[in-house]
Amino acid sequence: MMVAAGATVAQLQAQSPLDPLDNRILLCHALGLTRVGLITQSERALTEDEAQRLSALIQRRLDGEPIAYIVGRREFYGLPFNVGPAVLIPRPDTELLVELAIEHLPPSGRALDMGTGSGAIAVSLAHARPDAAVTALDVSPEALAVARGNAELNQVAVRLLESDWYAAVGDERFDLVVSNPPYIADGDRHLSEGDLRFEPPGALTDFADGLSALRTIVAGAPARLAPRCWLLMEHGYDQAVAVRALLAAQGYTDVQSWRDLAGIERVSGGRRP
Ligand code: GLN
Repeated sequence: MMVAAGATVAQLQAQSPLDPLDNRILLCHALGLTRVGLITQSERALTEDEAQRLSALIQRRLDGEPIAYIVGRREFYGLPFNVGPAVLIPRPDTELLVELAIEHLPPSGRALDMGTGSGAIAVSLAHARPDAAVTALDVSPEALAVARGNAELNQVAVRLLESDWYAAVGDERFDLVVSNPPYIADGDRHLSEGDLRFEPPGALTDFADGLSALRTIVAGAPARLAPRCWLLMEHGYDQAVAVRALLAAQGYTDVQSWRDLAGIERVSGGRRP
């Protein structure tokens, strides 16, 4: 798709092949405009440079690249997050996990986020609960660099550790463990559809039955949780029964699931046995 220099913002909104929301986001990004600016400057004509820049962005979107990677940003829990191909794009579904984490962390508690990626959960929790001490792990140094940037962007302190699940934590104790681990089964057709094609496979799938990361987290949490403290995990739309069974089999108490905005059981958890 080639945008011609001289075309106006209004013309680009009327003629774009993109979804109108995506189109607005890319126009703002390419022209350095706010959403209000798009309206007040609707008769502004594009320069040659701007036309070229916009053409390239539109082409990336037409090729399927997620809008969040193209602009490098996504809002989550009311906060801005830098995102790139090293991290999963934060999903609105995961805001449920943040709300539950805020609610289940005792005053001045120590929280551990396993597989933090962009840092969306850890940074949002630290922002909402300045009394908390938040530690976040990831196996990917590239993801940790993104998470560090997001902690700075949102002016919160999060201790970031490179770790294969609990490896770097040893037997340190926490008052809450949370995670949005990879839970899509190997070969699931969703992995080859839409945004997921562009996201890091290791953040999406366990390359097994979809439950292996959840199993590892459930098995290792009792040794890292203080008495009566909560483990909370996001999981797939059809995994709540299996995750509750994992928790119950390990002796966790108060085992339960919570529904996301779509009414799907999306987070399950229990208290340390
Ligand atoms: N909820 C994501 C999706 O299906 C998957 C995230 C994950 O595996 N943790 O789009």
